[in-house]
Amino acid sequence: MSKKILVPIDISETELTQQVIPHVEGYAKQDDATIHFLAVIPDYTYFAAYGLGYTSIAPDAKEREAAAMESLSEIVAKFNLPEDRIKKHVLSGSPKDHILQLADDIDADVIILASHRPSMSTYLLGSNAAAVVRHAKCSVLVVR
Ligand code: ADP
Repeated sequence: MSKKILVPIDISETELTQQVIPHVEGYAKQDDATIHFLAVIPDYTYFAAYGLGYTSIAPDAKEREAAAMESLSEIVAKFNLPEDRIKKHVLSGSPKDHILQLADDIDADVIILASHRPSMSTYLLGSNAAAVVRHAKCSVLVVR
């Protein structure tokens, strides 16, 4: 069976994506891998926008997901990958939980992600990256 690569994308951080592009392209070339891109809209976006504080169900959640899918598509277009081997996912909630869950659901062979935002110190693992490294059942490539 062909390999499945999961690439979680923080759509608010374009610089992070630049780092992972060559690694994803390299892995994708190894066989006829399918590349799953995932953008998660964190709950706090809703809190900030609506002051709801207690729920992640915003009235226009579907619109937000559609906008996120558009941003994700723009980012994915920067990767040199065959169109028919790309899958895109947008979910709302906790990034680390959704990354781990989707890795299970698609039976991912490897998760490729950047270690943290550029503004953080260089040896750190961001909270999502750390949780994925710790809990994933498959291999994880942390790009620095
Ligand atoms: P930081 O805390 O510095 O932002 P993170 O651990 O959140 O570090 O980010 C590291 C990586 O985790 C990102 O490069 C991305 O692959 C993934 N990630 C973070 N936030 C999201 C998100 N909202 N949706 C999808 N992936 C995410």
